[in-house]
Amino acid sequence: MKAMVLRRLGPLADNPEPLESVELPVPEPGPGEVLVRVSACGVCHTELDEIEGRTAPPKLPVVLGHQVVGRVEELGKGAAGFVLGERVGIGWIHSSCGRCEYCRRGEENLCAEFRATGRDVDGGYAELLTAPAESVYRIPEEFTDIQAAPLLCAGAIGYRSLRLAGVEDGERLGLFGFGASAHIVLQLARHLYPRTRVFVFARSREEREFALALGAAWAGDFGPEVNHRDTESEATKARKHEDGIDRGDLNITERTDTPFGPRAPNPEPVSGTKSTKGSDNPRSETRNPKSALLVPPLHAAIDTTPVWKPVLSALERLAPGGRLVVNAIRKEEADKDVLLGLDYPKQLWLEKEVKSVANVTRRDIREFLPLAAKAGIRPEVTEYALADANRALLELRQKGARGARVLAVGRRIDLKPDTRD
Ligand SMILES: [Zn+2]
Ligand SMILES: [Zn+2]
Repeated sequence: MKAMVLRRLGPLADNPEPLESVELPVPEPGPGEVLVRVSACGVCHTELDEIEGRTAPPKLPVVLGHQVVGRVEELGKGAAGFVLGERVGIGWIHSSCGRCEYCRRGEENLCAEFRATGRDVDGGYAELLTAPAESVYRIPEEFTDIQAAPLLCAGAIGYRSLRLAGVEDGERLGLFGFGASAHIVLQLARHLYPRTRVFVFARSREEREFALALGAAWAGDFGPEVNHRDTESEATKARKHEDGIDRGDLNITERTDTPFGPRAPNPEPVSGTKSTKGSDNPRSETRNPKSALLVPPLHAAIDTTPVWKPVLSALERLAPGGRLVVNAIRKEEADKDVLLGLDYPKQLWLEKEVKSVANVTRRDIREFLPLAAKAGIRPEVTEYALADANRALLELRQKGARGARVLAVGRRIDLKPDTRD
């Protein structure tokens, strides 16, 4: 079978083509396992963390990929619950010990023996893979194969983040970063909490406009108040130079209209501030500290960025008792020095909480897939061929884009094409 394998770790900047196209023997399903013929596999930021060694695979070579959609090709001895040809999905959780205190209470994501698909065992950047039947899920017929792929991680971990954020209907929610996961969380939050206003903080104008189109009440950049100074941190400057992305750009976009309904009320407009949409100078709000006041204090926030600046920005914007959930398996080191600027009274005091999200449980995926169908969630997807996996990863690093990236691997039969687009 064809597969893209990772043979050695290192920065993408040094080796922009870390995956190699090879032929591998078809894996055999062991007892209780299912062999799945892959049709689509999502591309996740965690793959960059694996390639660059922040969450290194224990052995090389390895096949990456943990947002897999395909069809049951063969059942191992004793594997129950599926029939041949059935459409299924596989996520980040491959297995856990099943005996420890965490596993016993359904928190197998915290198990010391947690094994991840596409890191600890071969994943979905290949034509076939195996997984324990208990870590295989049915895909609701509402989704095409390509649409379903990002639901397995970006969506399911987004669902877990929203659960951990403890949002109640009507509370204000902030999303920091607006990639594959956040664009699904926004749609889910609008379904579960119709009175909740969602404020989106994202680095690129395209991401902000996409957030507004999906129903965000407001979208802007992370804000200048984080460092309490006019100059960018050296790390931010260095990073901008390195990858060509300006993470410090401040831009405010007000919601105009959405496909979901009429314009939402503007959150507490402040005199003297205005939208810079269409302005010749997109940084014109940069020196206006009042622009931050367009966003009222948030009851909860979810950070899906790979960096640290948004963490402080989110903490500062939390209301007393507010909750920040950091949804990232690993953070990058580049701007970690901003944490030294933590302002305790402004950013952590008044019982603000910070929590990380670790991995994903089977329950998260099992609950989320039918919920996503019911909520009418439609992941926005950019498609790549399996052989173009290196390009997909590079573009994930370099470009802000709408939604998720998915590798089209094998033959796809889209059971019920989406007619609502
Ligand atoms: Zn992932
Ligand atoms: Zn365990």
